[in-house]
Amino acid sequence: MPESPEVEALAEWLDARVTGSRVRAVDVIEFRTVKTRARPPATLVGARITGVRRFGKHVDVALDAGHLVVSLGRHGWVRWSDTGTEPDDSAAAEAPALATVTVDEGTIELTDAGSWVSLGAWVVDDPHDVPGIAKLGPDPLDPGFARDDVVTAVAPRRKQLKAILQEQESLAGIGNAYSDEILHRARLSPVVHGDTLTDDELSRLYDAVRGVLAQAAGARRGIPIDLLKQAKTDAMAVHGRAGETCPVCGGVVRDLAFGGTTAQYCPTCQTGGALLD
Ligand SMILES: [Zn+2]
Repeated sequence: MPESPEVEALAEWLDARVTGSRVRAVDVIEFRTVKTRARPPATLVGARITGVRRFGKHVDVALDAGHLVVSLGRHGWVRWSDTGTEPDDSAAAEAPALATVTVDEGTIELTDAGSWVSLGAWVVDDPHDVPGIAKLGPDPLDPGFARDDVVTAVAPRRKQLKAILQEQESLAGIGNAYSDEILHRARLSPVVHGDTLTDDELSRLYDAVRGVLAQAAGARRGIPIDLLKQAKTDAMAVHGRAGETCPVCGGVVRDLAFGGTTAQYCPTCQTGGALLD
């Protein structure tokens, strides 16, 4: 699942390539991708792109005729091909294109590698017209993000920390992988409830939320978009590393069934040695 550091790098990468370009063609291959029925993406042909930026896990392509907003969902991503180059058949087999946007310099393909369509696209006047953007909570990559934002999101909640961190209306841009990394950095159990945290634990959580995401966003900046997913995987300390050695304490990283998927944590660093199930 794309999360804010990689989506930020994707938006910056696209911004550097397509801002100022005119949309030459839009081709919707999978019609379930488009969420704004009254305003199909083809209405953007001829419009000029004025910038690309990120909201939470969404990419907003701003044009002089509106906004094309893409929610990457669980398995969505973007592929780029320069004008005149042959399409990469192996990449297309792995993640079929749902829609394509052709500009002067090349073609943006909106892809989805899942067995069901999780990527969505909206054509709107304002990105906040997209429900998933309207509900977003504070974004830890924003310069103004503060400890109070974490306290407000977490401290009153009788809910497990890992679940709170992944709620987009509480904190924007965090998913399964970075919630594991943040909790490991903060030395907090994924299953403790928000309303049990001490002041010191809330401070550790705030430092970890900011630190993990800012560090990841900085490390991903400038990486070609087809290599971002692997760069993310390679950088994980505990997420996806069950059975491997914790880089902090040398203990063994463990699996935990959580919310229909699995989480990873280090018992020594995070739960006082207790195994969660
Ligand atoms: Zn550890």
